[in-house]
This record gives sequence, C-alpha cells and structure tokens, in this order.
Amino acid sequence: MHEMALAEGILAAVLDLAEGQPVRRVRLRVGALQHVTTDSLQFAFQLAAEDTAAADAVLELQPVPARLRCRRCGAAHAVAGPPFLCVACGASDVSVAGGDELLIDAVELATGWLHRPDSLTAPPEDRAPAGGPRVVLARGDGQAREGIDGS
Ligand SMILES: [Zn+2]
Repeated sequence: MHEMALAEGILAAVLDLAEGQPVRRVRLRVGALQHVTTDSLQFAFQLAAEDTAAADAVLELQPVPARLRCRRCGAAHAVAGPPFLCVACGASDVSVAGGDELLIDAVELATGWLHRPDSLTAPPEDRAPAGGPRVVLARGDGQAREGIDGS
C-alpha cells in the first residue's frame, strides 16, 4: 500500500525531529504525482503512529502541481493531475520535470513550529533563522512514478 510506505517514511522523519515531544501537526508538500489524498495519508499515518509521540498529529497537505515537458514540441507546463498530455500539441510523449516530491514542510510540536528553511507555508517571522534548526526531509524515492515518464 503506497500510502502506508509514505506514512512510515514521514513518521520516521517526524519522530526524529520531535525528539520525543508530542507532535501536533505536520505540514507536507505533496506532488500531484504521488497520487495521495489527505484522508488516505492521514489514515495510514495514524496506523503507523499508534503509540508514538506523533499518534495525535494532524497532517496538512499542500498540493504541488506536476510539471511536464513535451518531448515533441518542447512546451513545459504544470498540471494538477492526469491525463498527462501536452497542452500545446496534445502529445502524450511528455517527461516529468517535477511534482513527484513529498517533503515535510513544517512540524508543530508543543514548543512551536519547526520549519524547513525554504518552507512555502511559514510566515516570515516563523521561519527558522539562519543557523537555526534545519528540518530534515522525507523525500519520495520515485518508486511510485507509474512509468508516466517512460522510465
Ligand atoms: Zn507538445
């Protein structure tokens, strides 16, 4: 089950960051090509996180559009989901230039938020100062690409 594998990866990274503190919320940046929904990932996460410091954590997903590049005409554009066709010429011969990521953008602990240094969602005053905590990432390993880039 795809979501379960993702949830376990997220959980491991989150618990590492939390260092034993209860985790309240986890913000994730999820590429459209990961094919996950908030509900299914939350469900898998709760199963995985049972009896851990993240057992009550709520996941917030920030969708990231997929980016495609057409191999026929060279056009590049973002798409929210399938079908993966070139908007310029209609070709299905497209390569994926982004949108398969799964990043932990921020984690809320009892003591406050930990943000990635380049977090998209953190208000400026909340961003980690230079030299502050650097949030480690869970990154999709691409195994669920389903071959749409032809690989
Ligand atoms: Zn094209």
